[in-house]
Parts: sequence; C-alpha cells; structure tokens
Amino acid sequence: MANANRLGSGDSRSGWGKAMNRAAGEFDEKQDAVPVAQNRRAGSSTPARQAGGPARGRVARNRPALPSAEAPPPIFEIRGLSKTYQMGEVQVEALRGVDLDLFEGELVVLLGPSGSGKSTLLNILGGLDAPSRGSVRYGDHDLSVFDDAAMTRYRREHVGFVFQFYNLIPSLTARENVALVTEIAAAPMAPEEALAMVGLGGRLDHFPTQLSGGEQQRVAIARAVSKRPQVLLCDEPTGALDAPTGVLVLDVIARVNRELGTTTAVITHNSVIAEMADRVVHFGDGRVVSVATNAEKKSPAELSW
Ligand code: ADP
Repeated sequence: MANANRLGSGDSRSGWGKAMNRAAGEFDEKQDAVPVAQNRRAGSSTPARQAGGPARGRVARNRPALPSAEAPPPIFEIRGLSKTYQMGEVQVEALRGVDLDLFEGELVVLLGPSGSGKSTLLNILGGLDAPSRGSVRYGDHDLSVFDDAAMTRYRREHVGFVFQFYNLIPSLTARENVALVTEIAAAPMAPEEALAMVGLGGRLDHFPTQLSGGEQQRVAIARAVSKRPQVLLCDEPTGALDAPTGVLVLDVIARVNRELGTTTAVITHNSVIAEMADRVVHFGDGRVVSVATNAEKKSPAELSW
C-alpha cells in the first residue's frame, strides 16, 4: 500500500500472527477470550452504537471476556477515510472523510445512490483498494501499514467477498469452485458443508451453466464463507436477480451472519433490503449521511420489492 513504508511494517508483522490465530479459532490469552460466534450469542443482535460512538479507542485486547449486549466490540474503526481517484485531469472524490465503526457479528446494510462511495469503502475494507487519507483499524491492526504479503493473507483468511456477478469459474463444478478457496485457507469447512449451508448440497457437481442465477450466487456465497472469514463483504449481491431469487440469496447471507457470527456488510440501493439489517448506513456524495439502528430487523422472507 502507498503509505506502508512511511508508517513502517512492524505493526503488521508483529500483530498478524495473532490475527491469523484468531481466524483459525485459536485465541491469544492476552488478547481475546471469546470467539466471534460465541460473542455473537452473548451479545445483541442489534448493536446499539452508531458511527464514531463510544467504541472509539476500544480494541479487542481491552474488551471484557463476555461483552454485554450494550458493548459489542468494533471490528473495524474507520476514521477520516478519503479516496480520490485521479482520472487524467479530473479528480474524483469517491470518499470524503468517512468515520464509522462496524461491530463484530452485526449485519450492516450500506445504502445510497449510485456513485455515493459504497463500493469504494467496501473495497478498502476488503483490502482491494487503498485510501488516499485516513485510517482503517481491523481489531488491533492498522490496514494501512500492511505490506502486500500481509494484505494478501488478510484477504485470504479474514475476508469473504460476494459480488453482483458471481465470478464463478465456468469450467469448474460448484464443489470445485468452492474448493479453490478451501485449498488455500487455514481452517476451512469442507466444500460440501459450505454448499449444504447455502442449500445446494444437491448441486455439488453442477457447472455454473447448469445453475440458475440465484444458485450461482449461492455458490459464490459458499465459496466466500467456506474459509470461515471474520468479515463478509457483499456488493449488490442481489443486483442481478429477480426479487424472489434475491430473497433466497439474502436469506443465505442472513443465515451465515446468524450461524457463523460473520460480520456482514451488504451494499444495496434497494431500501427494502435495509430492513433485514442490524444497522443501516446511508451514503451520499462520498460521506456517511446517517446511521440508523433497526429496532426490529425483518427476516429476508418478509421482504418484497
Ligand atoms: P457506489 O458504490 O456508491 O455506486 P462507487 O464507490 O463505486 O460508488 O464510486 C464512487 C465514485 O468514485 C464514482 O464517481 C465512481 O465513478 C468513482 N470511482 C470508483 N472507482 C473508481 C476507479 N477505480 N477509478 C476512478 N473512479 C472511480
């Protein structure tokens, strides 16, 4: 990343092993006592805090062994995040100073019009892009000091991506598409288990062309979650699907969030989908316009558009 040298690489190197152990389900006794899924059960399904709230400055190391419903720890602390793209003579300010916390185990919907900066934020959180200014802390780690190797491990072990277009390898079966990830992950589930989780246990040997769009997206979700990531980032996961199929896909995402405790961020421009979130972050013109907590979140089956 651009500022890795300026900030030095010590943080990434010294801290990374701990983070990797956390991903593998092992916990440094000085750092962490409660696995994410357990924390999810102990904590609230409706994180109460909003951007820049009292979580500021708290990191996993300092949190209590059994967090109360009022105090889920932040997994991401985003501060002053800006991204400017230089397109020839033109500068595009995709993000203009975003402050936001995302909490462990929550399901957040990022809502806003096209071009408001949602994907840019998701790409930075997922280590696919680097900010121009500002910082992202992931647990005890500052993403901006990760060198290329640390960033690769971060993406490989900690982050699952789901995109609007499923990006499956056409010449591989559903099982083989998932195995591409499980073969390089530290503590994966079996491809068959991941595909069963998304309701495709009976489609293991189907090629993408033999699957519907919704089924292909569920294979993509199985692929993303098979490595048991701490974070699932979904960019318009239902954008190419009709509403009933989209509901099925959202149901799988909600299930992964609920059963694995995976912190989940879903980008959409469809405000109906926001009703299934713990919190809804509204974007506008590269900024967070508002953050709202859903007093009651709906199940995807209750949604229609
Ligand atoms: P959203 O996800 O809300 O639709 P994006 O984050 O994709 O918004 O885009 C925000 C702004 O940044 C848009 O004006 C877009 O054209 C611009 N942008 C996004 N990615 C790039 C890029 N790689 N190069 C140049 N401009 C980009």
